[in-house]
Amino acid sequence: MDNLEITAQKSSDIHHVLQHIYDTVKDNHKGTLPDYIPELAKVDPDKYGLAIVTNKGSIYSVGDVETTFTIQSVSKALNYCIALELLGRDVVIGSVGVEPSGDRFNAIEFDPRTLLPYNPMVNAGAITIAGLIYDHLGDEAYEFILDRFSKAAGRPLQLNEDVYKSELLTGHRNRAIGHLLLSTQAIKEPVDKALDLYFRQCSISVSTLDLAVMGATFANLGQNPITGIQVFDMTSIRNTLSVMFTCGMYDSSGFWAHDVGLPAKSGVGGGILGIVNRQLGIATYSPLLDINGNSVRGIESFRMLSDEFGLHAFDSTNRGSGLVSHFFDH
Ligand code: GLU
Repeated sequence: MDNLEITAQKSSDIHHVLQHIYDTVKDNHKGTLPDYIPELAKVDPDKYGLAIVTNKGSIYSVGDVETTFTIQSVSKALNYCIALELLGRDVVIGSVGVEPSGDRFNAIEFDPRTLLPYNPMVNAGAITIAGLIYDHLGDEAYEFILDRFSKAAGRPLQLNEDVYKSELLTGHRNRAIGHLLLSTQAIKEPVDKALDLYFRQCSISVSTLDLAVMGATFANLGQNPITGIQVFDMTSIRNTLSVMFTCGMYDSSGFWAHDVGLPAKSGVGGGILGIVNRQLGIATYSPLLDINGNSVRGIESFRMLSDEFGLHAFDSTNRGSGLVSHFFDH
């Protein structure tokens, strides 16, 4: 990329950097639309948006940031945070591990030492988390999580009925995982309710801006910086960001931690949510996916953002630590 040093001193400079990233990345047409959930293949492959929201509520964006898409696996991070709050760390850790799996997100694999799902960011772990939440809240569970997701985004969100039906019709692998989890007693009956909650949570519609506000809510210790509503419990956020850091980007979580250095979660709907702790929520949307199931343009955008603004958690320049006060919020 061009040598755009960090010279951002005011918001127009930040917009300039975002526009530069957008212009560079938008010509990348690599990747494919997922078709194992047929409805996901019906989206416009050219859509691309990039948004940043600070923990004080300033918004920076470029591209198609209001186009909606389904949240898919990004929901796993939010539900993990909710489950930790509702049930406590010990119950949750007793049901789902926190180790990277090294397997595909929908692998039918469990940790051989514990017989539990490896982590809450793969399908087996997320279905278990959905089961725990259903067990705790019963038939109110979906409305409860939809309300939390909406509060995190700062606006009422809705289910994409077509994607939900498509998941119901084609989610045989997830059903198989659910029944195996039942056989190992990681989840309880009714397994169909846990699966239904999982299919619904994945089918909630969001925009890039929604995801960035959700990220800023995480970054702001659980309080939505725009509405001022406390959405998530602070301690649960710490644990959630840790698992996102190590397991959030499917089979390229290691590369992501190495090159981008942020807690993040991607979804096969094409969204990626990243967080700069205590500072920023960052989101990208572009539906063409790489072989790991991550958005191609999303990965490239985050790499550039991390480099441009020094956001990597272990960046030697430490620019990330003072970013908000110095660049984004004056
Ligand atoms: N609903 C999708 C599935 O279960 C989510 C996968 C993802 O985004 O990784 O396969």
